[in-house]
Amino acid sequence: MEDCLFCKIIRGEIPATKIHEDEDTLAFLDIHPAAPVHLLLVPKQHIGSLSEVDASHQPLLGKMLWLAPRLAASQGCTDGFRTIINTGRVGGQEVFHLHLHIIGGKDRLPAMIHHD
Ligand code: 5GP
Ligand code: ZN
Repeated sequence: MEDCLFCKIIRGEIPATKIHEDEDTLAFLDIHPAAPVHLLLVPKQHIGSLSEVDASHQPLLGKMLWLAPRLAASQGCTDGFRTIINTGRVGGQEVFHLHLHIIGGKDRLPAMIHHD
């Protein structure tokens, strides 16, 4: 995808601090971290959002979830972390290349969902 921001990072056209790279995925630091640890894990293949995956993507999605705790641990998240995938307008997705946020740090993160 020519104009996709994360495809440009994958191709090396825009700099990013890479944390992990393999044949299928890339993880890099979020430019506006929401917590002391904030990584983005993306497939190298352009997939617009989680809404666009099909059955053929199951191994890739499994790999991303398998990688998440390993990448979190590599950044010092030894006592938990949070994963987020924002999807579409309602989900607040801003970059339309599938990405898994991996967020953590020393302190407990604020609750995301409040119950009455
Ligand atoms: P979304 O809201 O789509 O789930 O998350 C997009 C994320 O991409 C945001 O957390 C934002 O800070 C991050 N981001 C946007 N532009 C760049 C960039 O150029 N480089 C990096 N490393 N992260 C970016
Ligand atoms: Zn892309």
